[in-house]
Amino acid sequence: MQRITILGATGSIGVSTLDVLARHPERYSVYALSAHSRVEELAAQCVQFRPARAVVGSAAAADRLGALLRAAGVATQIEFGEAALCAIASAPEVDSVMAAIVGAAGLAPTLAAARAGKKVLLANKEALVMSGQLFIDAAADAGAVLLPIDSEHNAVFQCLPSSYGRQPGASGVAKILLTASGGPFLTRAVDTLDAVTPEQACKHPNWSMGRKISVDSATMMNKGLEVIEAHWLFGAPADQIDVVIHPQSVIHSMVSYVDGSVLAQLGNPDMRTPIAHALAYPERIDSGVAQLDLTQIATLQFERPDFARFPCLALAFDALRAGGTAPALLNAANEVAVQAFLDLKIGFRQIDRVIARVMEALPHGAADSIEAVMSQDALARGAAENFIAGLAK
Ligand code: NAD
Ligand code: MG
Repeated sequence: MQRITILGATGSIGVSTLDVLARHPERYSVYALSAHSRVEELAAQCVQFRPARAVVGSAAAADRLGALLRAAGVATQIEFGEAALCAIASAPEVDSVMAAIVGAAGLAPTLAAARAGKKVLLANKEALVMSGQLFIDAAADAGAVLLPIDSEHNAVFQCLPSSYGRQPGASGVAKILLTASGGPFLTRAVDTLDAVTPEQACKHPNWSMGRKISVDSATMMNKGLEVIEAHWLFGAPADQIDVVIHPQSVIHSMVSYVDGSVLAQLGNPDMRTPIAHALAYPERIDSGVAQLDLTQIATLQFERPDFARFPCLALAFDALRAGGTAPALLNAANEVAVQAFLDLKIGFRQIDRVIARVMEALPHGAADSIEAVMSQDALARGAAENFIAGLAK
């Protein structure tokens, strides 16, 4: 029996993870669940899965959850705050941790899971983008197993040899080809992009996801963050990672080898496939996802990304090449800009301008400690907020 903690249980990935776990009660039990503010949803999950512990974002949320669980007769222990998130990620009772909190808020608990040598199922790409080598080293030092949940990285992982040691050359890997749907604005006239609403930006053609990653998909910053994520997971330099637009989201990514072979992983676009793959790895279990029928899809298309349409993708490649804390600055500026867009404070095309301004204004430094990364994250958030306040005047 594998015991699982889900960080971010009420989110899109968290709910899909619980859906897979519920199909295999003989293999998995839920040790702990976390949510930030959606207390009612978390309470319903606790009633169904009976975790030993549950963590929320505030004392008030903990009180509300306590009242709901007492009324339901559920004896889950309730805690709140970041230290409690780190505790449920690193507790000795836990085998695997699904890291599915969105954004920088997930860094500390995801790192705690890695430092405790857990099997870390990594959905929270922002944590790895920010901390890079520090995260990879922490996982290696503690013997943690890092399994990618992001569909592209899970696909790449499946297309690499099982002996792969983060050295593309040693395995004959020529390129990692990350596919990208291009999001909802792939063909929309560029000069109309400033007028798009958060609802339009969050309406992804193929995937149903949380609002932050949906906006990231519309700007293609999501793919930019994934390029940086691929760099750290697979040890590939920026020049060995290509982005290929593939609007159908059927090929989830590919690896091309020096002998001319290209291996791809295909499937219906449903995150339960990579979640089930990582949960059961190296075995395979039913995920609830329908089998892919290629004759129904009939056509698969591919094109190069247009960096002028998607400046965020270029900014992310720049940050990866700059190294150090540049990806952490990029990530923090993006989180602030996306939230401002969702709050109707800035237009869609101002997201990339805010990020570019922050990257120009702040020199990046060495990413030699988590404290250095977090202080650059805070500086970038402040700079982005100032710039946004200036725009609003
Ligand atoms: P979501 O917004 O649906 O859910 C986010 C979860 O994080 C919720 O449970 C929420 O309670 C929790 N959370 C939010 N803010 C928090 C905070 N400050 N402190 C603690 N917890 C907090 O997001 P999602 O779409 O499930 O994405 C989660 C992560 O997985 C993101 O990093 C995203 O990039 C990654 N991811 C998601 C998908 C997808 O299909 N949704 C695919 C690939 C990668
Ligand atoms: Mg992805």
